[in-house]
Amino acid sequence: MYRGDVVPDVVVVGAGPAGLVIARLLQRAGVSFTVLERKSRAELGAQPRAGLIEYRTVELLRKVGLADTDLEFTTENGRMEFRTPAGSMLLDYGLLTGRRPNYIYPQHLLVGRLYDALAAEGADVQFGQPAVAVRQSRDRAVVSLADGSEIECHAVVGAEGSHSVVAPAITGARTSDELLPVRMLAVVAAAPPLENHTIYAPHPRGFAGQMRRGPAQTRYYLEVPRTDAAREWPERRIREELSVRLDVGGELSDVRFDAPAFVDFRTKVLDPMQQGRLFVAGDAAHLITSAGGKGMNLAIQDAVELAHGLIDRFGSFGDGRRLRAYTSTRLPAIWRTQAFSNWFLRVLMAGLRDGVEPAGAVPGGFMRGLGEGWVAALRDDPLLARWFAHAYAGVDPDAETVLGRSSG
Ligand SMILES: Cc1cc2nc3c(=O)[nH]c(=O)nc-3n(C[C@H](O)[C@H](O)[C@H](O)COP(=O)(O)OP(=O)(O)OC[C@H]3O[C@@H](n4cnc5c(N)ncnc54)[C@H](O)[C@@H]3O)c2cc1C
Repeated sequence: MYRGDVVPDVVVVGAGPAGLVIARLLQRAGVSFTVLERKSRAELGAQPRAGLIEYRTVELLRKVGLADTDLEFTTENGRMEFRTPAGSMLLDYGLLTGRRPNYIYPQHLLVGRLYDALAAEGADVQFGQPAVAVRQSRDRAVVSLADGSEIECHAVVGAEGSHSVVAPAITGARTSDELLPVRMLAVVAAAPPLENHTIYAPHPRGFAGQMRRGPAQTRYYLEVPRTDAAREWPERRIREELSVRLDVGGELSDVRFDAPAFVDFRTKVLDPMQQGRLFVAGDAAHLITSAGGKGMNLAIQDAVELAHGLIDRFGSFGDGRRLRAYTSTRLPAIWRTQAFSNWFLRVLMAGLRDGVEPAGAVPGGFMRGLGEGWVAALRDDPLLARWFAHAYAGVDPDAETVLGRSSG
């Protein structure tokens, strides 16, 4: 059974950042689409996840007309602190990038604003509507829904996160995949941050972090063993462990910690991210560790590129070249960001091991020493600090300073 009388050009599966950015750009270009979202509207706006938005992502959104309109980026984040038992180091990365910082925008608010903008102009966004399978033929793609109905369209975008139903339908794609032996416990505090900057605290007991989210909301992270269960982390233990690793004495004693969630460190890249009429974007196409806050950024960057390919193809131009090049356009930037995030994770996390520790070794001692070495290098080496600042804030280095690209 096919639903609806009109075949939309595009069905977007998933109303996360990737899906909604694509939908909003299609809407503005007059390309017809339907968005299918498994959750309800209320659930979609309730789950806090990402918060850090790269400078380049904001610039991109500005270029395509979604920043300063649907989305306003006003909270800059230009300073961070590395806090270790040996001392504290402040890094003004906003200054090192020539005042091009990254921004804070909680993901659930971003998603809510994009949905409101879509709905205000009558978009077809269907909540409580999980896609369960997709298939394609020469002239159509078909999305099957959980209620047994089907939707025909010209192209399907899988933007449904890590458990994609579209990705497995891209036959022949290779997946580079790794599950790292560490895990993070993420919590939200309804309280102002301890400091008005990000704190990264590599510690012998495991990493702890504090990320600003707003004047009355703060995210905290704790590295925990991969085998730990939620019951092993009652609120009191979270508070005590954060206090020790962040070295803040009793400052957190009145703070309540909500929404505990384990974050696994699975990395993945699908290649290609498309086949025929099927495309994937964001977490459906690649997973990145949360070190450095890059996942939502990659999702939005994919979305802008893919949307423009779809607009060229299904809009009045009828030109499929940009769409065909989607994978090759996106993969170099995705791998570059993976490389940064993977490196940064090794600076921060005590539980990562590259090799086997012989009997008698101090557990984690070598990796911890490397982490301390990198923090010292960031403190003492202006060139390394400058590279880090650009990679972290998401700023492309000025072309004239890149070796071999000088115009002279
Ligand atoms: C604790 C935490 C902190 C993070 N911090 C940052 C950060 O600071 N910066 C950053 O850039 N990234 C961060 N990330 C990563 C970021 O949240 C993700 O990379 C981002 O959500 C990916 O967006 P997406 O649109 O690809 O997928 P998602 O946000 O996962 O959206 C997918 C949507 O599809 C829906 N869906 C799933 N299956 C189906 C189906 N079968 N049918 C219909 N709908 C479906 C889901 O309900 C969901 O709404 C963080 C992640 C976590 C967990």
